[in-house]
Amino acid sequence: MSPRVIDAHVHLYGADLAPPYWYEAMAEYGASLSGRPREEVLATIERDWFDPDGDRLVADMDAAGIDRSLVYLLDFGLYGGTNDSVSLERRYELFAAAVARHRERLVFFGGVDPRRPDALRLIERAHSEWGLAGVKIWPPAGVYPNEPACYRVYQLCAQLGLPVVIHTGQEIGPLRSECTRPIYADQPANDFPELTFVLAHAGMAWWREAADIAWHHPNVYVDIAYWQSKYLRSPEGFARELRGLISTAGKRRVIFGTDWPALRAVRRVAPATWVEVLRRLPEDPIGGVEFEREEIDLLLGGNAEAILGL
Ligand SMILES: [Zn+2]
Repeated sequence: MSPRVIDAHVHLYGADLAPPYWYEAMAEYGASLSGRPREEVLATIERDWFDPDGDRLVADMDAAGIDRSLVYLLDFGLYGGTNDSVSLERRYELFAAAVARHRERLVFFGGVDPRRPDALRLIERAHSEWGLAGVKIWPPAGVYPNEPACYRVYQLCAQLGLPVVIHTGQEIGPLRSECTRPIYADQPANDFPELTFVLAHAGMAWWREAADIAWHHPNVYVDIAYWQSKYLRSPEGFARELRGLISTAGKRRVIFGTDWPALRAVRRVAPATWVEVLRRLPEDPIGGVEFEREEIDLLLGGNAEAILGL
């Protein structure tokens, strides 16, 4: 029997799960990449991404042989405004209900902008009422992970024993990319040695910086969510970067994630295909880049089990 596969980075989208301006920004971005009309991309997002109760996610997990997924809620409020019809607290309830519907398969990670005055109260409520398993910080909204506001959240997470996931790597405009540099997680990792930090997306283009920070701090890990985009650009380039990431950070520091539903409609990197590409790396090296079976088994699930206590 092959080891468990854990996707440590997925999202749920739906009309009430994220504000309209987010979908409009994604459609704008998709249109500029593909040359398709914006309205068409928006319709595709609604058709192929929206999954308010998690059923489609679990169907994709079944097809890909993924046992469990960590679901992240993003807090857009202090980036795009809070004047859409759904409050962040209400979004927590909706996410918690979707996760509860699939409680054997999904794990709930809550995103909260640490600058919100009631951030700590919300985390505490989500932890006690909805089984919150970790907290995500989203620097593209303009918050630096080494700001005092974030430190309040780290303190609470340390008390509650919750891991902290920090998005690293460039985001689409008008979101801010500078604050997503992995280096801003360096000092928090020093100041909270008891806290587990995961640098989501392993910094994307800044992967060397993320890998080096993980190597220098025993409490820092990286996930490879959205690295399918590297594979799409160049399978060989992807294999070389993944090799470099694992060799630098260490084989017990790199965690599998997809950023589902992003790229789920791209056939060559559909979830099932993507898991298979990774699983076969030791037997079918891409461009002669070699991986050990153990490295890939740890990547696909072993590390997430150990680090996140799943
Ligand atoms: Zn993500």
